Amino acid sequence: MTVRVRIAPSPTGYLHVGTARTALYNYLFAKKNNGKFILRIEDTDVERSSKEMTDIIIESLKWLKLEYDEGPFFQSDYFSHYIDHIPQLEKTGGIYRCFCTPEELEERKKKVIEQKKAWKYDRKCLNLSKEEIEKNLNEKKPYVWRVFIPEGKTYFDDLIHGRIERDNSEIEDFIIVRSDKTPVYNFAVVVDDYRMGVTHVIRGDDHISNTFKQLHIYRLFGVEPPKFAHLPLILDEKKAKLSKRSGTVSVLAFRDMGVLPEAFVNFIALIGWSPKDNREILSIDEMIQLFSFENVAKKGGVFDYKKLEWMNSKYITKTDDEKLYELLKPFYKESGIDIENFEKEKILKIIFSVKEKARYLKEFPYLTEFFFKEISDYDKKGVEKFFTPDRLSHLKVLVKELENVEKFTSENVEKLYKDYVEKNGIKGADVIHPTRLALSGRTEGPSLFLMMEIFGKEETLKRLTKVL
Ligand code: GLU
Repeated sequence: MTVRVRIAPSPTGYLHVGTARTALYNYLFAKKNNGKFILRIEDTDVERSSKEMTDIIIESLKWLKLEYDEGPFFQSDYFSHYIDHIPQLEKTGGIYRCFCTPEELEERKKKVIEQKKAWKYDRKCLNLSKEEIEKNLNEKKPYVWRVFIPEGKTYFDDLIHGRIERDNSEIEDFIIVRSDKTPVYNFAVVVDDYRMGVTHVIRGDDHISNTFKQLHIYRLFGVEPPKFAHLPLILDEKKAKLSKRSGTVSVLAFRDMGVLPEAFVNFIALIGWSPKDNREILSIDEMIQLFSFENVAKKGGVFDYKKLEWMNSKYITKTDDEKLYELLKPFYKESGIDIENFEKEKILKIIFSVKEKARYLKEFPYLTEFFFKEISDYDKKGVEKFFTPDRLSHLKVLVKELENVEKFTSENVEKLYKDYVEKNGIKGADVIHPTRLALSGRTEGPSLFLMMEIFGKEETLKRLTKVL
């Protein structure tokens, strides 16, 4: 059996981190088993679906490098195809026409709820006579198709949760085709999963109640359902379902902040799954090798933004400077700096100087902006603390000594500072902090001596002299 899995997003919104993780687990499972990963766009809800969202979904998967082997397939291309299956289902006696109008249903539902009972479709149309049906059809009364749920129990063996069972009394006679002849999600999904030969349906826990309904459609078709794996939800820090209210949830928003796709994939993989050895930094190939449903958690995992920052920073540190240079171009451009206008070697050093500090690519321009512009503002607290008369007099002498440095490298400058500190019996901080503040206007930043090398002798002396 060739494993065939799919990700089936509805293009009614951006690709959410939850769907991205579902896509990732499908991808890992497919790759691990030499199977196929399919993209199906579930756009049967024509009013809420849009081409723009479809494009964003595709772009998001591309950014994550979760390449699909087949698709994208669009459910809207198959509208009539779903309805073609109705006669086959009708013959089984397992579906029936329901002519109840939404208003009638609402009225009956209200009465039931007033009696503090749970509403479920009351089967008013289940036993309509042939004549009544004919009459309604002749009068062109709109109708929906419902599935008749017999007495008994429905169960399946979930690959993550084990056996899950539900009494059929809890499942309503649900609609599969709307009065406008469009298929409802539960129906389209079954037809498609079967037609596409999907062997494993891996999706969120929030679909468990749909799975029970879908199993009844498989039963009516008389075909073996696929295997199911329901993933625990992603929660926010308050342990509520992760949503827009919790913070950033759209995949492309993370890209735009400068999260590296490898870091993002690594991070979302570990919400709800972990390799047994507790490793945290994993390449996609390692994940493919280690992935198994046994190690997927049964309970929801928290989306920890701080952990994402930590992980992204690790990945940024690991990325080579040339690659960062390419990735950073748009981020610098956005903040008004065209790094291509500068000597590349210098930019590579600038990147190197802060790469261990940045949590997002977006932070690079801010962390390094003093390299690109003159300083007019100095950190106020820093000025009080570091631009004191005694420290400034040391700087004055240092300026003279720096003038004589022939090769202005970080090593040479560092040696000069060390010797000066020793000779004068002062602390390194007494000259390092004022120099940093003079060069960058800040009290924190990259290694001072590297900074001086990047500025070069002339600019370093210019900035120090300006302060003096
Ligand atoms: N279109 C559904 C969703 O976006 C897919 C559910 C499924 O995987 O069957 O939630």
